[in-house]
Amino acid sequence: MMLLVADAIAAAVIENIRVRNTPERTRVVLDASAPLEHKVFTLPSTDQKPDRLVIDVPEAKLSFDTQAVDVGDGPILGLRTSQKSQSVRIVLDLDAPVRPRSFVLSPILNLNLSDRLVVDLYTKEQQSPVQRVERLTNQMRDVIVAIDAGHGGDDPGAIGPDKLYEKVVVFEIAQKMAQMFDDAPGFRALMIREGDYYLALRERTAKARKGRADIFLSIHADAFKTADAHGASVYAISEKGATSETARWLAEKENRADLIGGAGEVTLDDKDDLLVGVLLDLSITASLSQSLEMGGKVLSAIEPINRLHKKQVEQASFAVLKSPDIPSLLVETGYISNPREARRLATEQHQHRMAHAIFSGVRDYLSDNPPEGTWLAWKKSDMHVEALSYRIVSGDTLSGIADRHRISASRLREVNGLSGDLIRIGQVLKIPAS
Ligand SMILES: [Zn+2]
Repeated sequence: MMLLVADAIAAAVIENIRVRNTPERTRVVLDASAPLEHKVFTLPSTDQKPDRLVIDVPEAKLSFDTQAVDVGDGPILGLRTSQKSQSVRIVLDLDAPVRPRSFVLSPILNLNLSDRLVVDLYTKEQQSPVQRVERLTNQMRDVIVAIDAGHGGDDPGAIGPDKLYEKVVVFEIAQKMAQMFDDAPGFRALMIREGDYYLALRERTAKARKGRADIFLSIHADAFKTADAHGASVYAISEKGATSETARWLAEKENRADLIGGAGEVTLDDKDDLLVGVLLDLSITASLSQSLEMGGKVLSAIEPINRLHKKQVEQASFAVLKSPDIPSLLVETGYISNPREARRLATEQHQHRMAHAIFSGVRDYLSDNPPEGTWLAWKKSDMHVEALSYRIVSGDTLSGIADRHRISASRLREVNGLSGDLIRIGQVLKIPAS
């Protein structure tokens, strides 16, 4: 009987430790041959020792050289391990205190992922997913529009008459659009390329994702071998491109698999790989149909100011559109190879009109279909019709509260019968609809 018990708790083997630093957190993943029991705790810094995080794993063995673990340039300074009888202790030396959060993930066979123990570290500046959601809800966040001016640096894009470079024209249009979004309540622009330099396509989508973009717009100008080709076009990704992208994401385990099972996102750790695929597919299908609808709005906004190359949103497998979860459009603003269109694209006035057309199409679409948790969503809901109330917390100022709700401080005072800026903690203010 004793022998059987001993057999049943044969040590799990820790086969690898991976560390990934992102702006949101540092994720430490232990790959193992079996589910890992574990205990995680922190130790504060002392005169001799830095802040530490300890991961104790009973009934386990290490099967690889932990010297080889790359801790990257996050809060982890170094990693030490020790084996005591049947248990493994992993100590992370830290350059700042962290809050840990740990969970285990089951194997995903198709992705070649074994049992995993995930420990997420949040520094003081980073917030756990729960806090982040709360913060976003409280502030009724802006919709973030990533604006990608095509080409740049050594890649001029298409070249028109009089050495008119696509990279220059589209950057000027993109900058004007960014200004329009920044000026519109509820929107914030994120310029992907901020100057005349080249960014690889994957870096462009990665920057959008890192900036938590809700929408991705890539701005280009076309060229064709004959000078008479003309008109603006709007593209979304093709179904085929979307499908192959699903496959790529599924295969790219570094990028996706831990995210799939991870904190704050859909938890799939106890689901099978088929379902993971289906859920990714759904997300891609949803974002594709949003892209097509938004593209339609952009086309109708462009039509009055510029001829259209095609009257519908076209679909193609452009790499820069391949963010499965961010509705994305590529706008060809006209043919730079067509002398007449090139002349117009070079003018400030036409650039402004083009920027405004794209901006207003996207704005109209997003005002009707606002992403969750945004000020636009709140404005569209019935909630804003009735006055909202807000309880003052420590650190609040009257003008800060007014700003957050896009109303003037004087209006806030008026609605609440206040004569000055004095407010006290716990006081409840009525927030009028703006
Ligand atoms: Zn281009």
